[in-house]
Amino acid sequence: MKITWEPITLNLKTTFRIAHGASDQRHNVLVRLEQGGAHGLGEAAAVPYYGETQAGIIEYLRGIREYLGEDPALIEDILERLPPGSRAARAGVDMALHDLWARQIGQPLYRLLGLNPAKLPQTSFTIPIQEPEAAAERARLSGYPILKIKLGGGRDVETIALIRAATTARLRVDANAGWGREQALEIIPRLAEYGLELVEQPLAAGDIEGLRWLRLELRAQGVDTPIFVDESVLTARDVAAHAGAADGVVIKLMKSEGIRGALRAIHTARALGMQVMLSCMVETSLGVTAAAHLAPLCDYVDLDGPLLIRDDPFEGLRYQEANISLPECPGLGVERRAAL
Ligand code: MG
Repeated sequence: MKITWEPITLNLKTTFRIAHGASDQRHNVLVRLEQGGAHGLGEAAAVPYYGETQAGIIEYLRGIREYLGEDPALIEDILERLPPGSRAARAGVDMALHDLWARQIGQPLYRLLGLNPAKLPQTSFTIPIQEPEAAAERARLSGYPILKIKLGGGRDVETIALIRAATTARLRVDANAGWGREQALEIIPRLAEYGLELVEQPLAAGDIEGLRWLRLELRAQGVDTPIFVDESVLTARDVAAHAGAADGVVIKLMKSEGIRGALRAIHTARALGMQVMLSCMVETSLGVTAAAHLAPLCDYVDLDGPLLIRDDPFEGLRYQEANISLPECPGLGVERRAAL
């Protein structure tokens, strides 16, 4: 198999500010595998929080040609052979292998996985941290029926109060590890009065004991808002470690090192009675469509990455407001737009 790559710069429509920091651009890498006249595409997102850089991803890809072999159907073997390193790069290779394999068979990936494309949950739309008035205005103008509001910016309760007054949308909040234990216990009951579907990553990644404590304290107060973990959970093993400490987990291909790892994490969560949200980083339609093939297995979907960027170089997943639909062509079903 031949592997090539291409760095791409994604310009965000508006500044994306969350508790970890703000960005106007992201720097991802496209991965292309070729074998027997067919090709497969993948994307690696360089997320600063996870210590990934475009240069680091390319460095990893440069060193793996000898591990790929000639049969893209042997995905598990190939991934096992790959050296440890950039999770994002490995996710990009995993995606490209699945795309190539499914294209060679001539079927959309979801069909090969036995999944029903009619069963895709609606996606949420993200409102980044900003002044509460501006957040409420953006929520109102978006018209989206499900909003994911980034918190941890200091005026959290005010933000949710104004958004609640501005829209009837279902509200999910994501603190991105921005609260301390006591702070979370103080804020979540006040937020819950506005009717939240769930709270994502209230505490620092790794604070499993804090999560157990927080859930018990909230339940004792009669607050049963589900607590999801995102930054805390990269792989299936991390999911298992959070059994009894969280109600649900957020799965992203960039954390799980691709589709294979995501499937393992989803099934692990199910076995432990946890709910699953499928999400993405700031990615083009390529990476996000790859993730969407797993959406029929998930309870919640947060796949608005392509809606946050200008000039998406790919066409794949289709959006009709919050309704998403998968392309029907073979592989991931993603093609590069002709003009870009
Ligand atoms: Mg999150």
